[in-house]
Amino acid sequence: MRAPGGPRLLLRRLREVMAEPVTAQARLDRIVVLIASNMVAEVCSLYVARADGPLELFATEGLNREAVHLTTMRPGEGLVGLIAATAEALALSDAQNHPAFSYKPETGEEIYQSFLGVPVLRGGATLGVLVVQNRARRSYSEEEIEALQTTAMLLAEMIASGELQALAGQPSAVAVRKAAALQGQPIAEGLGLGHVVLHQPRIVVTKIVADDANAELARLETAIEAMRASVDALIDSSDDGGEGEHRDVLEAFRMIAHDRGWLRRLREAVTSGLTAEAAVERVQNDARAKLQRQTDPYLRDRLHDLTDIANRLLHQLAGQSLVLRPDELPDNAILVARSMSPAALLDYDRSRLRGLVLEEAGAASHIAIVARALGVPAVSDIPNISEIVEHGDALIVDGVTGEVHILPAPEVEAAYQEKARLRARRQDQYRALRDTPAATLDGVPIGLHMNAGLLIDLPHLEETGAKSIGLFRTELQFMLASRFPRLDSQETLYRAVLQAAGDKTVTFRTLDIGGDKRLPYMKANDEENPALGWRAVRIGLDKPALLRIQMRAMLRAAAGRRLRLMLPMVSTVDEYRRGRALLDREIAFLARMGRAPPASVELGAMLEVPSLLWQLEEMVSVADFLSVGSNDLMQYLFAADRDNKRVSGRFDTLAPAFLRALRRIAEAGERGLAPVALCGEIGGRPLEAMTLIALGYRDLSMSATSIGPVKAMLLSLPLAPVRAEVQALIAERGDCSSLREPLREIAERHGVRL
Ligand code: PEP
Ligand code: MG
Repeated sequence: MRAPGGPRLLLRRLREVMAEPVTAQARLDRIVVLIASNMVAEVCSLYVARADGPLELFATEGLNREAVHLTTMRPGEGLVGLIAATAEALALSDAQNHPAFSYKPETGEEIYQSFLGVPVLRGGATLGVLVVQNRARRSYSEEEIEALQTTAMLLAEMIASGELQALAGQPSAVAVRKAAALQGQPIAEGLGLGHVVLHQPRIVVTKIVADDANAELARLETAIEAMRASVDALIDSSDDGGEGEHRDVLEAFRMIAHDRGWLRRLREAVTSGLTAEAAVERVQNDARAKLQRQTDPYLRDRLHDLTDIANRLLHQLAGQSLVLRPDELPDNAILVARSMSPAALLDYDRSRLRGLVLEEAGAASHIAIVARALGVPAVSDIPNISEIVEHGDALIVDGVTGEVHILPAPEVEAAYQEKARLRARRQDQYRALRDTPAATLDGVPIGLHMNAGLLIDLPHLEETGAKSIGLFRTELQFMLASRFPRLDSQETLYRAVLQAAGDKTVTFRTLDIGGDKRLPYMKANDEENPALGWRAVRIGLDKPALLRIQMRAMLRAAAGRRLRLMLPMVSTVDEYRRGRALLDREIAFLARMGRAPPASVELGAMLEVPSLLWQLEEMVSVADFLSVGSNDLMQYLFAADRDNKRVSGRFDTLAPAFLRALRRIAEAGERGLAPVALCGEIGGRPLEAMTLIALGYRDLSMSATSIGPVKAMLLSLPLAPVRAEVQALIAERGDCSSLREPLREIAERHGVRL
């Protein structure tokens, strides 16, 4: 059976009704009559989702009128609830025998056999369900299903406009948007309360019905051409890194942009009377429903790509740029994006940013490093977030627990405001310790240093009162760039870092790439075991030009100053010596070129590979200093990948085996000439830091945010008695997997602030 007049006529009539100066209820009543007659159905009903959950019957033609604003269905309950839960159309010729059918006597629907229902969708949200029913058994055609879906778009606009708010039969208003708490992966600490700003703003489609279908089709074709050209241009520029997007993602974009099925559906939707924008949205609604059900990660990615392409097309149609201009940022902004390049984040005005929420942060998560450096609380791994939220939605980001609250209830917001106030007070207390000398309660001075990797980290040096930069991860510049940074850009960065550090020293670490730290422009090696493969100083020694250029940049940048640099992942004394020889050649070259040398040069080695535990005496006699990289040392000692969630938390850093290894290293430092520091994450945790100091470590380098808490611990630490107890504990208790509890007891007994 074909709908008389087809969807185009229906849309035109509906638009006329929308414009009539009548009450919202009268309008709805007219609409359902129109739809029923156009679809040759005896029944047409509209159910609208309320903020408290249920779907309420708002209007009907054919069912008992008394049931309007009385009958409700919970999501998942009955056929209507099923459609709302799945966001998918449902067509049945024998509805009453469907397992989900739920009989509501007040509606009088028992006489109707056939049922067609479609969700009323807007963005990622289901706002209601639109139903037609027929007395006789019949099957609904694809065309009819599509026509009803198109009609539902008009109703979505009506609901979203807030026009129906006052009609709801129950206390709760219409659920234009619902509050939700989602759990993700925390990637940068802190708490942020603010309002959503979409990094790639979505176009809100408000004009649904086209005035002239042919003109609209022409608009669509022009936009498709322009969108294809923009994707091609992106691919051409992707050799330079493009917009930080991966080439295979871009190739997938190109495939979709030429996908015949997708283009056909768009053209059909326009032919049925929709505007080009509404057609994109309409076709996208189906993709979203599929995305909700899809569990295969590859297919999910492809559906995401489809969303991206649809978004590009919408921007073409609206003549708007695809990404927000950084200077358009309002105050209290929480950026929401599917993914984001570090460079894009750096473009925004930090003072207006309160948080960042991403669907995915990417393997090595450079965005996390930048977010941390900027002090922007961030959470990743929230599927679909850029579809769920709308521009301006209130949002809370908890970068400690990974929770994200969309449109939080007033009590949730109040609780978080209190939490944020407490946090700020604690930060103030730490800040007040800035100029207090870092020493234990019994007067033993401890060097608290800061880890950094970007120029934007440098202001923290002053703010925290850190003694020096104990680890500058030079690979970050390489990871953020779109091609190998040349000698002069390396030199420029190192000089700027030294300048910003003033009279404090900086310990530069030479390039630590490979393993999990990949460079987008460097050919990936197919390694079975990247963490055990060609990485860090191994690459530097095999490709000495790379390492020498970096050393040259450091030597030039440090003219007249003290230069400290160290080699990552050293496994043998010989590797250190070869690094030293390269450095000596560069020092000689510098002199030959007549350039001013640094005032002094020290070359250290990072102690991250367990093999060095049995070459400690030799290492402390050849190296100028050692720095324990406890993150890697832990992963190699326990054979547990630090980035593999299944195993990374399996072994405790306060396990006796690890602490005994750390003790040996500290002892070697006490006997030898080379000072031994530690720059892994554990140095930044108060209980671990207490233990390390008791083991003999006197210099710890940590992230800027850890310096306050560690200093507060230090000032309350009576080292002499605690050292004796900790050392005895580690010597005696090798039979357990963690000493965390007994160490905590020692701290408590001695009043150490953790
Ligand atoms: C370490 O391994 O402990 C370390 C400080 O280096 P990274 O975390 O950069 O590997
Ligand atoms: Mg390391």
